Amino acid sequence: MSEPIRISRAAVKKARPKDKDLTFGTVFTDHMFVMDFQEEKGWYDPRIEPYGPLSLDPAAAVLHYAQAVFDGLKAFRGKDGRVRLFRPQKHIERMNNSARRMCIPPLDPETALRSLVELVGLEKEWVPSTVGTSLYVRPTIIANEAFLGVRPAHSYIYYVILSPVGAYYPEGMNPVKILVVDKYVRAVEGGVGAAKTAGNYAASLYAAEEAKHAGFTQVLWLDGRERKYLDEVGTMNIMLKIGDEVITPPLTGTILPGVTRDSALTLMREWGLRVAERQVSIDEVAQAAHRGTLKEVWGTGTAAVISPVGELAYKGERIVINEGKIGALTQKLYDAIVGIQYATAPDTHGWTVPV
Ligand SMILES: *Cc1c(COP(=O)(O)O)cnc(C)c1O
Repeated sequence: MSEPIRISRAAVKKARPKDKDLTFGTVFTDHMFVMDFQEEKGWYDPRIEPYGPLSLDPAAAVLHYAQAVFDGLKAFRGKDGRVRLFRPQKHIERMNNSARRMCIPPLDPETALRSLVELVGLEKEWVPSTVGTSLYVRPTIIANEAFLGVRPAHSYIYYVILSPVGAYYPEGMNPVKILVVDKYVRAVEGGVGAAKTAGNYAASLYAAEEAKHAGFTQVLWLDGRERKYLDEVGTMNIMLKIGDEVITPPLTGTILPGVTRDSALTLMREWGLRVAERQVSIDEVAQAAHRGTLKEVWGTGTAAVISPVGELAYKGERIVINEGKIGALTQKLYDAIVGIQYATAPDTHGWTVPV
């Protein structure tokens, strides 16, 4: 589908925050991308409009049965001043997989890529330049058919909004304390854990709030069946270095297939490290810690890129990792990925797309 993108420009432009005042997800740019789907027409009328509220019927399916998927990626202003999206094709592929799981019609990947490139291109001046800052890109699809029956909706809206963001963790790259939960679960095999779908996040809030009240930044989910094997962290995948082996849970349908996870695995394999995508139990982690072979633990995700974990708390015990300091591999991965994102290192994998 190569329908031209209609553009209607905002009459008034917003004031842009200074780089140092940026937070996460609170400020949005002047425009958004929108496209509609009707069963008879397919996806149609791609357009860029002034940013603003959507009009939804109170019976819209998304509001009742959560037929909604999204993705999250970033555009960076490189050292050379140019703006690049990081792995947009991979994010689109994932959003389409999430969509299929939720019976939402997938997008034509080329149209979806155009929506990101054109919108970010129009909003280029919103891309901040200080290292650590970026323009967060949030493509979303929701069911907007006014119908209260439980079945896949017949109409949808795809939209993309943009938000300039500062460093995700206000404390910077400081190792975080994570609570391992065994009272609640996030996903089970055969469920929707691998989809970036709205309900997964609503379902995660209760455990996350409990963890916050207990002084932890995030929760680490265990598998839904035995509550024994590591799944993932709130919005990050988890990786560990035990001895000289790097371990991360496999993609068996219960965790989000993170793009940062994929980038980190690709780089570490190129560096010749021993990398295993396998189940790892919390007992194995605790034992490794006692033996002194648990070297590093970190999370991977678009928001934080790489987030060092300084402590895991499980059943009242505290597993301190690398004396609560950032590990060498954690730092190396962060530097390598950030280097590609800000074009201070060559992009040998074709991960960045200039806008
Ligand atoms: C988005 C997300 C991730 C990380 O994926 P990236 O593509 O690396 O940003 C991991 N887990 C969950 C639950 C997520 O929503």
